[in-house]
Amino acid sequence: MKILCLESGGTKLVAALADLSGELLDRRIEMRSSGQTAEVTMHQLRRMGKDLSRDTTLAAVSQGFGGTVDRSLGSPTLCYHETGWDQVHAQSFLTDAFRVPVFIENDCNLAALAEYRFAVPKPADTLLYVTIGTGIGGGVVHRGKLVELGNLGEAEIGHIVVEPEGPECPCGNHGCLETLCSGPGLENLAHRIIGERTTARLIMSDFKAGDALADRVCSAAAGYMAQALAPAINLFSPDTLIFGGGVMNDNAEYLSKIRHETLPRVFPPFRTSCSERFFLSSLREDVVCQGAAIYALQRLGELDPH
Ligand SMILES: [Zn+2]
Repeated sequence: MKILCLESGGTKLVAALADLSGELLDRRIEMRSSGQTAEVTMHQLRRMGKDLSRDTTLAAVSQGFGGTVDRSLGSPTLCYHETGWDQVHAQSFLTDAFRVPVFIENDCNLAALAEYRFAVPKPADTLLYVTIGTGIGGGVVHRGKLVELGNLGEAEIGHIVVEPEGPECPCGNHGCLETLCSGPGLENLAHRIIGERTTARLIMSDFKAGDALADRVCSAAAGYMAQALAPAINLFSPDTLIFGGGVMNDNAEYLSKIRHETLPRVFPPFRTSCSERFFLSSLREDVVCQGAAIYALQRLGELDPH
């Protein structure tokens, strides 16, 4: 018996198989077309999943979704990168296709679950996971279980407003953290500070090489990150923070800047417990499918949260 893990994110679609211990065994990755609708994505995921699980008995299908999931329906409702999720009932679609239990959860939340499980050192109680890539998302895991506070999710750190007069966000607000510190956000910030168009990848490589202008951009971005992270720490009191996503890959220098900006703004009694526990993700591109496997196994009662 295997778990079929699916991921629909900003740029790629992934299908993977996991065994009942949660270990990922095999995977397929395809890029999604720009402008692709939800219906096309679900048909593509079904085809990828069918191909991968052709000779396999499945125990469940588990999907990580890059947007809002309505937990009472078990289905996605909104994605800022892709239209049509309000018209597709992904839960029924996958149940009809695979005839096994189907679990769908926000991709950052699943990533948080995977990071908690494989974190070294282990979080004492609570992990705050933050991913910085095409967008910025968060997830909270407490004693091995995903913290689920609302029917439509929680820990949307990317939509904390850090500059009220800042750029317009797809959510309708202005100056959300995501508009200034995601990959595209950093590019906007660099344009404002340096006066030139550049890429997030180049900003980070210049920053690591000691470039003064890139350092100014990263210092400003780390300041914005701190404005959102410190209140998040005050609210959730995590003992461990893990940072993933493309912007953070191999980026200990930027992590150090974020930590340095954040800690002085944290409620002092909470500062000591997390001050030495800001880490980079170790799971990288497998993190969502890995989390999807763990989530399904926990829901099936096959895996203890600890
Ligand atoms: Zn927003």
